[in-house]
Amino acid sequence: MPLIPFVDLKASYSLIKEEIVSELNHAIDQTRFIEGASVHAFEEAFASYCGVQHCVAVSSGTSALYLILRAHNVGPGDEVIIPVNTFIATAEAVSLVGATPVFVDIDPSTYLIEVSSVESVITEKTKAIIPVHLYGQCADMDAICSIADRHDIIVIEDACQAHGAQYKNKQAGSLAHAAAFSFYPGKNLGAWGEGGAITTNDDVFAQTLRELKKHGEIQKYHHKRVGGNFRMSEFQGIVLRAKLPYLNQWNEARNKNARIYLQSLGDADIILPNVAEHNMSVWHLFVVQVADRDAIKENLAEQGIASGIHYPIPLHLTEAYAPLGYVKGDFPSAEQVQENILSLPMYPELTSDQINQITETLKSML
Ligand SMILES: *Cc1c(COP(=O)(O)O)cnc(C)c1O
Repeated sequence: MPLIPFVDLKASYSLIKEEIVSELNHAIDQTRFIEGASVHAFEEAFASYCGVQHCVAVSSGTSALYLILRAHNVGPGDEVIIPVNTFIATAEAVSLVGATPVFVDIDPSTYLIEVSSVESVITEKTKAIIPVHLYGQCADMDAICSIADRHDIIVIEDACQAHGAQYKNKQAGSLAHAAAFSFYPGKNLGAWGEGGAITTNDDVFAQTLRELKKHGEIQKYHHKRVGGNFRMSEFQGIVLRAKLPYLNQWNEARNKNARIYLQSLGDADIILPNVAEHNMSVWHLFVVQVADRDAIKENLAEQGIASGIHYPIPLHLTEAYAPLGYVKGDFPSAEQVQENILSLPMYPELTSDQINQITETLKSML
C-alpha cells in the first residue's frame, strides 16, 4: 500500500460501523435481505437531500442510466448525445438499450460537455442528452436544457460523481428530467458493494422505473412489462442510510482539501482545475494537467504517492466503440487533455500535511 493512497475507504468506517452492524443484525433476524425498511428509508432521505419527489434505489449507476433510458422508450434506431470524456458506463447504458451513443467534445477548462457542440449533432433520431457532472461539478444545465427544449428531447443527468454538488444553488439530481447516481464504494457517497439510484420529480416515470427494476411486476407474478432485476440489497440500504447524514461534512472536507491543493500549486507550472462560477463542486476527483504525465505518475508512485488517470482513453478511441467509426482528431480537446491529466489523491480524511507532501513532491519533479 502506498504511503498516501488514492482513496482511503477505511477512514470513515469507525464512525458508522456500530450503527451498521446493529441494523444488519436486525435485517438478518427479520431475514429481509432485499429492499427492506432501510432501502426505503434511504430512498426517502436521498430524495429529500436532492430536493426531488422520488428516489428509486437500484443495483448500480450503470443500471440507473439504463433504466432511465428504458423508461423513456429509447431503443434501436435512436441516438443519445454524451460527452466523450466520461466513464464508459454512460455510453454502455445507451448501447444496452440498443441505441447509438453520439459523442461530443469537452470544454478543456472544465472537462465538461462542450455545450456549443451539442446542437450540431442533433438529428431526427436524437432522443436524449446525458451531460455528465464529471469530477464533482455540474455541466451547464441551463444551456443544455434550453437546447433540449427547442428540439423536444429529454435531458438525463449522469450525477454518478456529483452527490451533493450544486448548480446555481440547486442540487445535482434535481436539474433535469431524471438523474442517475452510483454508490460504487469510491464515490462521494459509497456503499459497501454495488448500488445506484434514480431521482426524478415525475410520478408516472418513477412508477415505471419501480416496475422495470423488478421484472415489470405490479403485483407478485403479475408482469406488466419486460423489466429485469435491478434491485438494491438491504445491506447497501443500511450502509447508505447510515452514511448520508455525513455526506455534506465529507464534501466540505474535500472542498477544504481542494483549497489547500490550489493554494500550494498556485505558482507551479501545471494546469489546475477550474470550477465554473455558478457551480459548487464536490471534488470527487482533483485533476491537474502536467507535461510528461506518465513519468510524473511513475515518480510519484516511487515516492509512495498514488494517483490516477480519468480517463486514459477517450471513448471514441476505445476498442469497444471502434465500430462507431470515429477517428483520432474527431475530438481535439478531449484528445489533448487526455495526454496530460493526472488525478491526485482526494478524500475527506486527507490531511493538510499529506497534501503538502504531495504538492512538494510534485513540484520538485516539474
Ligand atoms: C461510476 C460511474 C458510473 C457507473 O456507476 P456504477 O455504479 O459503477 O455502475 C457511471 N457514470 C459515471 C460518470 C461514473 O463515474
